[in-house]
Amino acid sequence: MKIDSISMYKLDMPLRQPWTTAYGSDDTIRTVLIRMTSGDYTGWGESSPLAGPTYSPEYCDGIYDLAQKFIVPALLGKDIRSGEDLMSRLNFIKGNPFAKAGFDLAYWDLCAAAAGKPLWRMIGGVRQTYQNGADFGFQKSVDILLEKIADRIRAGYPRVKLKFGPGWELDILREVRRHFPDQVFHIDCNSAYSLKDLPLFREVDRLNLAMIEQPLRFDDLLDHSKLQKELKTPICLDESLNSPYKARQAAELGSGKIFNLKPARLGGITNTLEVAEIARKAGISCWIGGMLESGVGRKFLAALGALDCCTYPSDIWSPYVEFFEDVLAESMNFTSDGHYTLDDLPGAGIQIDEKSLAKVTVEKQEYLSH
Ligand SMILES: [Mg+2]
Repeated sequence: MKIDSISMYKLDMPLRQPWTTAYGSDDTIRTVLIRMTSGDYTGWGESSPLAGPTYSPEYCDGIYDLAQKFIVPALLGKDIRSGEDLMSRLNFIKGNPFAKAGFDLAYWDLCAAAAGKPLWRMIGGVRQTYQNGADFGFQKSVDILLEKIADRIRAGYPRVKLKFGPGWELDILREVRRHFPDQVFHIDCNSAYSLKDLPLFREVDRLNLAMIEQPLRFDDLLDHSKLQKELKTPICLDESLNSPYKARQAAELGSGKIFNLKPARLGGITNTLEVAEIARKAGISCWIGGMLESGVGRKFLAALGALDCCTYPSDIWSPYVEFFEDVLAESMNFTSDGHYTLDDLPGAGIQIDEKSLAKVTVEKQEYLSH
């Protein structure tokens, strides 16, 4: 497909409540939307690395700059034959998977729209309806956390993910386990620890969690493999898993028994599908995680959640973590117990509310092919 135009929107979407984890606190979603057209068709994508380089080395303003200087000139006016073709045209850019993801997602949305097929079916999704989990950042007190967990369990959510880090760790987790002895929990450490913290993880190992997500350094694989050998609780890789290359290494090293698949962090749908295949061959189970992203990015999480490799409830962001203003014309199809149903619209099913988009857009660029 020849790429006729590319538009980039830098967004600022304030959250109702700050989102606090081991890497810091965000009170707004800073993200970049990509709009790509070919003939009469339009595709949307999103690059959502966070406002600062706190989760990975990439950040919103950096992506906006890099994309204008290097990605747009590599794709605009080009006849792109596949996701692999698009990614190979961006191979000269080292790393920067978040920046590439926005364009890869927009391309897949465009292709599915042009084919008249829902994206989730096009990528081999098998489940039109599936279950999501609940997810809690650091709270003001353990009582508030316990109340929120009880509320989600009552609503029917099958598993709860808890952020975990210095100042919000073992005592909190023990208290949670004491109140909910049979509930499925896992913790996400957002790379806050090192191998020196093995005694802490030995205690965590006694609490019967579904997994420990990214306990060690954001780009590490080797220490994770050492830690996994010491624990019976599966380790799940998140931050470290930012390319198919890293996924192959992780599988070989035994750095984790579970992969958190995030299209934004992996560089888009093309890479996510490749990583899912690496995981399948290695017997590693997967689930879908999200970033702080708008409804555009979440539509891709939703499509990927339909893959049969996703054996643990996904995190496509439940309705209780809401923005002041999203950019989708219609809210996403969640039930109160966290089930999500995909629709049969062509593409990723993204319909933009132009007024809302204008309200949260702080910068915009449009490029036309001649
Ligand atoms: Mg994580």
